[in-house]
Amino acid sequence: MSVRRALFREQEGLCAICGKPMDEARRTVDHVVPKAMNGRDCVGNLVIAHYDCNIEKADRAPTGCELIWLLAVNNRLNLEPSRW
Ligand SMILES: [Zn+2]
Repeated sequence: MSVRRALFREQEGLCAICGKPMDEARRTVDHVVPKAMNGRDCVGNLVIAHYDCNIEKADRAPTGCELIWLLAVNNRLNLEPSRW
């Protein structure tokens, strides 16, 4: 199973930025801690989000809600807590 598909499943098809359902076509992988802020390019820093939400978020710091999403998804995938 691809990382993208595993994340989508563990998020139960909900966007990690706005919390609304996503369809197959308009979803993207989001680096929760942006690469511009030294966020890591690994599954422990990734969630699935709507394309539009991801574009709007751009390189800003994650909100508390977004970090909770990341921790929940990390936990479901049995990942070690990420070093952000
Ligand atoms: Zn969204």
